[in-house]
Amino acid sequence: MVMKKQEMKVYKERLLALRARLRGDVNQLADSALKKNRIEGNGDHSAMPIHMADIGSDNFEQEFTLSLMESEEGTLGAIEDALERIEAGTYGTCDECGVKIPKTRLNAIPHTPLCVKCAEQFQKG
Ligand SMILES: [Zn+2]
Repeated sequence: MVMKKQEMKVYKERLLALRARLRGDVNQLADSALKKNRIEGNGDHSAMPIHMADIGSDNFEQEFTLSLMESEEGTLGAIEDALERIEAGTYGTCDECGVKIPKTRLNAIPHTPLCVKCAEQFQKG
């Protein structure tokens, strides 16, 4: 039931590419968040009146960016796990029930550790 090494190599390359892309995105988000803080902190806008509404929307934007980063970091963690499973030779089988994960699912979400059935149960809680 274990995936062939040659097949795993395809997914490994895909995971590595995905990881590189996500890492770039996370760094970019962190950079722009830091730049925004620096601009707000340097006192250039001290002459302008600060409205509560502006502060509120800024906070919202920052929280949105942070939660976006969090979910991308979650995906990065899943990619790392998947790469480890490739090294261990267990990639492509469900973490929960041990069945072979369909290739159509792996093609869509190469870092998933679960089959469709278990993922659905996981989402329901
Ligand atoms: Zn399963």
